[in-house]
Amino acid sequence: MDHFLYRDGRLMAEDVDVAEIAASVGTPFYLYSTATLLRHYQLFDEALSWGPHLVCYAMKAASNQAILKTLGDAGAGMDVVSGGEYARAKAAGVPGDRIVFSGVGKTEEEIRLALEGGIRQFNVESEPEMRVLSQVAESLGVLAPITIRVNPDVDAKTHAKIATGKSENKFGIPIAKARAVYAEAARLRGLKVIGIDVHIGSQLTQLEPFELAYQKVAELTEQLRADGHEISRLDLGGGLGIPYARSNEAPPLPTDYGALVQRTVGHLGCEIEIEPGRLIAGNAGILVSRVIYVKEGEGRKFLILDGAMNDLIRPAMYDAHHEIVPVVEAAAAAELSPYDIVGPVCESGDTFAKGRLMPPLSDGDLVAFRSAGAYGAVMASEYNTRPLVPEVMVNGDQFAVIRQRPTFDEIINRDTIPEWL
Ligand SMILES: *Cc1c(COP(=O)(O)O)cnc(C)c1O
Repeated sequence: MDHFLYRDGRLMAEDVDVAEIAASVGTPFYLYSTATLLRHYQLFDEALSWGPHLVCYAMKAASNQAILKTLGDAGAGMDVVSGGEYARAKAAGVPGDRIVFSGVGKTEEEIRLALEGGIRQFNVESEPEMRVLSQVAESLGVLAPITIRVNPDVDAKTHAKIATGKSENKFGIPIAKARAVYAEAARLRGLKVIGIDVHIGSQLTQLEPFELAYQKVAELTEQLRADGHEISRLDLGGGLGIPYARSNEAPPLPTDYGALVQRTVGHLGCEIEIEPGRLIAGNAGILVSRVIYVKEGEGRKFLILDGAMNDLIRPAMYDAHHEIVPVVEAAAAAELSPYDIVGPVCESGDTFAKGRLMPPLSDGDLVAFRSAGAYGAVMASEYNTRPLVPEVMVNGDQFAVIRQRPTFDEIINRDTIPEWL
């Protein structure tokens, strides 16, 4: 559920008319709803309220500081995957003891940054990383709290580019090796083992893969405790999917997911951490774009938008489906006809949808891509020297630009022409 609904035929973001924001900010732009972000965070928080827990928002999904502060002020922790994300979370006011550091290749510099600034835990991904982490912690005279990410070899049944829990994926250590790796971790002097981490993939639309993975984590918890390790925290990752198309069956809700967590690992008495990204931010954001031209091709009509693949890469990268709706609602009697919806970038891959049934649209009309809040703005690039799309946030009847559109000069002046040229 989100707060982008039609009122009197006009698409609203909470209580603000989307067309009004477009007139003030220009297009394209990303638009986020505070109420939707908070609601999704609270759904997870309530779903785990049967025990001690922390919902750590996976900020790689949408990392504007206004989003981080909104969630952080509500009590959320953050899951970060780079030094830059760590710095951004801190800048948004999230305390270090609510920041979890994930990521496959943490460098010494990133580790030092987090140890000095304060960290809740590192989710260790490999033995070499574990040894470096221990050395850096020792050199600073501190103990680094860790979980070790295990790869449970479970099929997440999602798109191959976002599956992470099979043995062929680069993530985590094979669960069969876990006891040996924990034994080594316990011997390393800079580390304090506190728990287990698992994350099997993104956009999961069924609970079964989670269930299989969490059962394996429960078994491993008992084994590791029997080996003498303190396992007091389980980080169960993110990955719960969202409905991108209204016609599809809706994925399970956070409530169902929370009940599953309780059923599989609730008896272990551990503090539970989860790292949802997409489900918190996905439906809390839209991308608003304007039709530049309607072009009649050979037997097909193209809707050429001012938004492009560099602004929203998901259709090109993951074959993702986004609902695209007119900002001014079409008359109920309006006839739908198929359009190829494309951007102006010089790539055939710059296609958002083929043969999409849309009401009649003309040059200058506004459209909105729904469910664009996660893995949207954060994956944008300046390909074709197109300025990064600005970001706007609404809260009730107010809105604010939370990232400005850069000018051409700002983009161009980042280049330096060498003296000898
Ligand atoms: C990407 C990622 C997440 C978030 O995944 P979502 O599908 O957005 O919920 C959580 N944890 C880790 C380690 C990740 O890499």
